[in-house]
Amino acid sequence: MSVLNIDRPDCLNEEGIAIFRESVRKFLDQHAPETRAARWREKGVVDRPMWTEAADAGLLCLSISEQYGGAGGDYRHEVVLSEEIAKRGLGDFAISLHNAIVAPYIVNYGSEEQKKNWLPRMASGELVSAIAMSEPGAGSDLQGVRTTARRDGNHYLISGQKTFISNGQTADIVVVVAKTDPALGAKGISLIVVETKDARGFQRGRNLGKLGLEGQDTSELFFDDVRVPTANLLGAEEGLGFVQLMQQLPQERLNIAVGGAAVIERALELTIAYVKERKAFGGRLIDFQNTQFKLAECKTEATVARVFVDRLIGLHLEGKLDAPTASMAKYWVTDLENKIVDECLQLFGGYGYMSEYPISHMYRDSRVQRIYGGANEIMKVLIARTL
Ligand SMILES: Cc1cc2nc3c(=O)[nH]c(=O)nc-3n(C[C@H](O)[C@H](O)[C@H](O)COP(=O)(O)OP(=O)(O)OC[C@H]3O[C@@H](n4cnc5c(N)ncnc54)[C@H](O)[C@@H]3O)c2cc1C
Repeated sequence: MSVLNIDRPDCLNEEGIAIFRESVRKFLDQHAPETRAARWREKGVVDRPMWTEAADAGLLCLSISEQYGGAGGDYRHEVVLSEEIAKRGLGDFAISLHNAIVAPYIVNYGSEEQKKNWLPRMASGELVSAIAMSEPGAGSDLQGVRTTARRDGNHYLISGQKTFISNGQTADIVVVVAKTDPALGAKGISLIVVETKDARGFQRGRNLGKLGLEGQDTSELFFDDVRVPTANLLGAEEGLGFVQLMQQLPQERLNIAVGGAAVIERALELTIAYVKERKAFGGRLIDFQNTQFKLAECKTEATVARVFVDRLIGLHLEGKLDAPTASMAKYWVTDLENKIVDECLQLFGGYGYMSEYPISHMYRDSRVQRIYGGANEIMKVLIARTL
């Protein structure tokens, strides 16, 4: 993190983590060069071999125990992966969603049998995962989901429509948020795992065109009486889904902030290098006081963000990160990310608007950070509740 004059905490600085970071960098340099990322954007999806290549490098299910085929790491490894992906503008490859968002639902709420069934295949790249919460009529207001799971003997029949689902075209396994008892509101929500292969009544809808992250297959999913064994329910009984979501969302939100802080630092690095090179009015852009002041402000704010995010990573590793504090990081860092990337793009002038300059991708990709994982306004609602 060279652009800031501040060290990361010891837990993120130790030798094993530094070696791991180096291996992630090498992997991404080799397997996700700009030419390949451009193909993902062109096709609207990350090619499937990328997942198996990541698995072969031991990057899938990083923080899952070896007993279930994972790499036996911890959240620090997920942080390193998220940061390196974010810095390279490779957010299209939703590996962090697979590793640090979906897998934890199975780890934390799955039975032994479910873990043995799904986790090793998620680690080997055989199963790419997704989580389907959002619906056309229910995004922020998750209690309003209309997808239902009706019991039919030892099966559920799942019906409903989901939208904006990351990995939607690729996913082989989807954690579906559904109402097992629509009369009970939040207490009627359950999480049920759907294996998509040969699932009758399951259909992938459009791979949605987007402002940014064009290489990510954010999609609609349709369920028409999809028959799923009741054994695919996560948790000991029905109706625990809402609580399970609330328990896992802090890690999802922290992860978004982790990516945001990394993008901020990368944007600054690129911009500082550019303004030292670019000439105007007989000098360099860095010689203008406006450039210096803007970048001084950005660097200060980036440093504040870094200290805050690292502190929260530490708290999370100790199992002490609460939901409102994770919400603060999600909203504040992603607002800052958008502001700093915009300031940086401005300093690139017309070049900043050109697709061949990474800052233009950062600008487009970062916009969604304020929306997904819970809109930033919802984060403020959650924080305000604790006042
Ligand atoms: C690229 C991308 C990837 C995504 N991936 C996934 C995924 O993998 N799985 C998944 O389930 N979902 C995913 N989503 C969906 C995302 O989580 C939702 O878009 C988000 O939660 C907001 O829901 P919504 O779009 O329905 O907006 P709405 O709920 O309609 O809200 C619209 C806006 O209204 C305001 N608002 C809403 N409620 C309040 C309130 N109480 N107080 C104040 N203001 C409010 C906010 O400004 C909000 O942005 C993804 C979305 C995108 C764009």
